[in-house]
Amino acid sequence: MGLAPEEIKTLREKFYNAALIELFEPQKDLWIFRVKPDKGQVPFKPGQYTTLGLGIWESCVAGNGPEALKPGQEKQLLRRAYSVSHPVVNSKTGDLYSPSEIDFYEFYVTLVVNESSTPTSPRLTPRIFALKKGDRLSFGPKMTGHYNLDGIQKTDQILLFATGTGEAPHNAMVWQMLTEKHEGPIVSVVCTRYAKDQAYRGLHEKLAKEHKNYHVIYMATREPSQPKLYPQDLITRGLLEKQSGMTLDAAKTHVYLCGNPSMIGRPEVKEGQKIYPKPAGLIEILENKGFTVSAPGRPGNIHFEAYW
Ligand SMILES: Cc1cc2nc3c(=O)[nH]c(=O)nc-3n(C[C@H](O)[C@H](O)[C@H](O)COP(=O)(O)OP(=O)(O)OC[C@H]3O[C@@H](n4cnc5c(N)ncnc54)[C@H](O)[C@@H]3O)c2cc1C
Repeated sequence: MGLAPEEIKTLREKFYNAALIELFEPQKDLWIFRVKPDKGQVPFKPGQYTTLGLGIWESCVAGNGPEALKPGQEKQLLRRAYSVSHPVVNSKTGDLYSPSEIDFYEFYVTLVVNESSTPTSPRLTPRIFALKKGDRLSFGPKMTGHYNLDGIQKTDQILLFATGTGEAPHNAMVWQMLTEKHEGPIVSVVCTRYAKDQAYRGLHEKLAKEHKNYHVIYMATREPSQPKLYPQDLITRGLLEKQSGMTLDAAKTHVYLCGNPSMIGRPEVKEGQKIYPKPAGLIEILENKGFTVSAPGRPGNIHFEAYW
């Protein structure tokens, strides 16, 4: 460890191609930030992701436990996938952003520190959270992913389920649907541990008041004042219909699931048999109601993006 400042300067010039131009800090460990690539915008469908990267040589925020580095690794770039989020509304005009007004990509990221004394492999988020406005970083060359609104009809019902920062792609998708005047009902469910971790809540509650086909449900599993409910309970206990008016009809509904793999509940396939995780995730619950998972070349009405 301990590269010379000249060497760090050279590595940054080699690897970094974008700047962090705006930083909002809803919580010390939960950031919304905007990145502007040097070469301008790249083709993007709301819901997709790109990569962000920083050198392993960069410092971490205080509180991150030890990391195990292999010899020479400190000169490498550490990259992770990040869904592109969206501010939806231009706060200066109060209107939905028009595409020409946006020359940045917004990200919604949570800090994952190593809280133990056992070394982990190098992590990106403790390095991201040491950045300041104006600092440089690596931005992936293209946007990737099938998690988007392709194939959706204007009158379809759209149900978005997110845990934590899994709300990021849904912000961009909600922006797209409201901009294109989607006619079917849209329900966005966001589940966090604490209410303070719902950084976009004010924006979405305002949008829901302004758009009669848009509903939001925010849930927090560790707030003593709230019942301990998970997104799965909204369906299994019939709460979705009560809280949003949406009935789950597989013939006209597309469901999007993003974030924690336990909420998603992707089955393993062993000898042709699907083995679902326990407790049940949303895939099992929805398949029992006639929904099918979408895959490349095999369109369905359950779409998911697992963050780990
Ligand atoms: C397609 C895709 C899009 C993603 N988009 C986002 C995004 O928009 N925002 C975001 O915060 N993360 C996102 N992630 C996760 C992201 O890629 C990193 O894994 C995460 O930021 C942690 O990076 P790290 O290097 O610090 O730790 P890692 O070594 O990558 O992960 C360490 C552990 O942290 C946990 N973890 C990872 N991501 C999260 C998370 N978001 N919340 C809570 N625990 C987590 C997992 O248990 C994981 O094993 C996405 C992942 C994928 C695959």
